[in-house]
Amino acid sequence: MHTLLSQYFGYQNFRPLQEEVISSFTQNNDTLVLMPTGGGKSICYQIPALMKKGTILVISPLIALMKDQVDALQSMGISSAYLNSTISPIEQSAIKQNAEAGDYKLLYIAPERLGNPETISWLKRIDLSGIAVDEAHCISQWGHDFRPDYRNLALFKSQFPHLPIIALTASATPKVQKDIVSCLNLENVNIFQSSFYRKNLSLHITPKRNMKHKIVLECTKNKDNATIIYCYSRKETENIAEMLQQEGVKAKAYHAGLPHETRSAVQEQFLKDNIQVVTATIAFGMGVDKPNIRTVIHTTFPKTLEGYYQETGRAGRDGLASKCILMWSRGDTRKHEFFIEKSENTEQAELERIKMNEVVQFCDQKICRWNQIISYFGETPEFTECGNCDICLSSNDVFDATEVTQKILSTVIRTENRFGKSHIVGVLRGSKAQNIIKWGHENLPVWGIEHQYSKNELSDIFEHLVHKKILIKNDGDFTTYKVSSIGLDLLKKRETIFLPQIEKEEEIISPKINQIITFDTQVFTGLKALRKQIADKKNVPPFIIFNDATLQEIAYYLPQSIEGFGKISGIGKQKKEEFGEIFTTKIKKMTQMYNLSPKSIPENIAKSPTSPRKKSTKTGNRKQARIDKTQELLKEKKSVLEISKILDVTDSTIYKYITDILHNTENLALVHHLLPDAHQYKIIEDSFQKLGTDRLKPIFEDLHEEFSYDELKIIRVLLGA
Ligand code: ADP
Ligand code: MG
Ligand code: ZN
Repeated sequence: MHTLLSQYFGYQNFRPLQEEVISSFTQNNDTLVLMPTGGGKSICYQIPALMKKGTILVISPLIALMKDQVDALQSMGISSAYLNSTISPIEQSAIKQNAEAGDYKLLYIAPERLGNPETISWLKRIDLSGIAVDEAHCISQWGHDFRPDYRNLALFKSQFPHLPIIALTASATPKVQKDIVSCLNLENVNIFQSSFYRKNLSLHITPKRNMKHKIVLECTKNKDNATIIYCYSRKETENIAEMLQQEGVKAKAYHAGLPHETRSAVQEQFLKDNIQVVTATIAFGMGVDKPNIRTVIHTTFPKTLEGYYQETGRAGRDGLASKCILMWSRGDTRKHEFFIEKSENTEQAELERIKMNEVVQFCDQKICRWNQIISYFGETPEFTECGNCDICLSSNDVFDATEVTQKILSTVIRTENRFGKSHIVGVLRGSKAQNIIKWGHENLPVWGIEHQYSKNELSDIFEHLVHKKILIKNDGDFTTYKVSSIGLDLLKKRETIFLPQIEKEEEIISPKINQIITFDTQVFTGLKALRKQIADKKNVPPFIIFNDATLQEIAYYLPQSIEGFGKISGIGKQKKEEFGEIFTTKIKKMTQMYNLSPKSIPENIAKSPTSPRKKSTKTGNRKQARIDKTQELLKEKKSVLEISKILDVTDSTIYKYITDILHNTENLALVHHLLPDAHQYKIIEDSFQKLGTDRLKPIFEDLHEEFSYDELKIIRVLLGA
């Protein structure tokens, strides 16, 4: 198993559950695999195909995906083919003959073919060793993507009783799970379910105001980051695409109203990295297995949390840090309600309303986003803070809002609890709007005393007070507020109150940069250009050649020989032979040109003998074991990336361990190799001295976001804080 993984796929370690799944299926058991997008489901039937005699039949719903998968397999030297409507009859009969002759390890076919008895009798002439049903939720009416053709698969068990079936999906709901088992008639099925937590996705919910500005910033900050922007309407997809085009971003709209050819052209250009951004209605995405989507943006909150998980899940399939930004406005509830109310089925409408309110609650609650999501899917999270969502990243960042709160409350009281938010904000900012003059509010002592805050900032603070039930809505038609008993109490006792840091005007969304691997970006860009050249020549998407993670590792180690090149994760035997020469030539050139020094590539980085998952049982022990191991690896001068790979936990967990270790041992030498150079260190130190060590965000911004929060945390420890 391991040999095949490294020889063909170029990976050193299995991801969680892959090994177990492969064993189950190769021992001819019916197997159900529930793993999130990007979890690595394909390998679960591709490796068995290499291990077993004969051919594995793969059912896959999407024509485009079949081609990509087969291209990818062939590029690794695994013989495979697909049959669907895009293939000419002549080619089809050739493929059929080859299949009968046993030429393929994997044969992909579209589900609609199975309705045809001829197909079945032809399949019986092939030496099949198993059946894989990918995207198996398509069989269930309860899933989000029911495909009637998948019902054809029900006959497999009776037609091929001796063949094991492996069904794979990223859909988690128990109902769908049950449906899959019963529709496919799976027997004594082994079920493997991995966590739905995706640690490389950074989830952000941000106020919707200034949305266009934020979107432009996001897309222009990194010009070649593939991005999907999910929009509310077709019109909006077109508007945003146009706005981005005017900013020089290669953006295209994609929605169901466009002609079929336009849609597939957009999809293809996106896959080939010819365009950067697709603005889409939800019609886009199912058919996109593009691994290097770095950003997913929602301009309106999705209708369900399942939908949110699905759509954000299209980011970062390659496991690299990616971010998901949801533009949040409570007002968007009305958009959804408009459609819910139109529904004639009241039961359905009620259900939809419940689902929508779950999303509203998710956005509203100041609780770690990942914690909420995975709890929602029925898992018990192993953490309370993921460390990588808007809540976790700002949780240190509260500010003393005592004074401004007192002023807001006193304004509400002085205007007799009879006005709405914008009126109160207007008074505090010294507005001379008609309505304020009309009521004589410009004469109040509170008029104009908070002009240092912008309108939006004061509105945000006001919202927080509503959220904390310090201000409450009056009954009646107009949205006006009064000070609650909690609020009155607060005023009376002059209690201090802290509120979450409000978003500063024009602030750029700045999630944690959690890729600490310090590859050279010029080299990375150079490698991407070479990859694109090769891909275009072969007419395949660039990720078929190598994924971004592989290129980053190359840019980090800078292998100078073909042999070294082959040690990089994601480079198997075939790719080493095919691309070793051309890549190492370019790497050597760039190493010289940019005056860099290659690093030695550790032998099987991840094949370290200590696999912490299996060792101890109690969480506490396990954690201590990992901390000890981290300390050991630090002594060996391993990078955070390497340590996180070996221990299979997030970088930010490793940083937490390191902080612990430093506190306990005070052995600063342990982290020397992790620190930026002396010059940079000085800059960071100065910033801490200037701005204090209490809050990291000002430092992060002061340093133009060049250092991650994690790095800053370590340095803060070193500075003795
Ligand atoms: P899924 O079908 O579950 O969404 P894929 O099978 O498409 O996921 O795999 C997602 C990505 O993860 C692919 O780029 C794949 O090559 C990579 N991958 C899978 N298994 C491993 C592994 N053991 N080590 C490293 N990368 C892996
Ligand atoms: Mg898949
Ligand atoms: Zn979090």
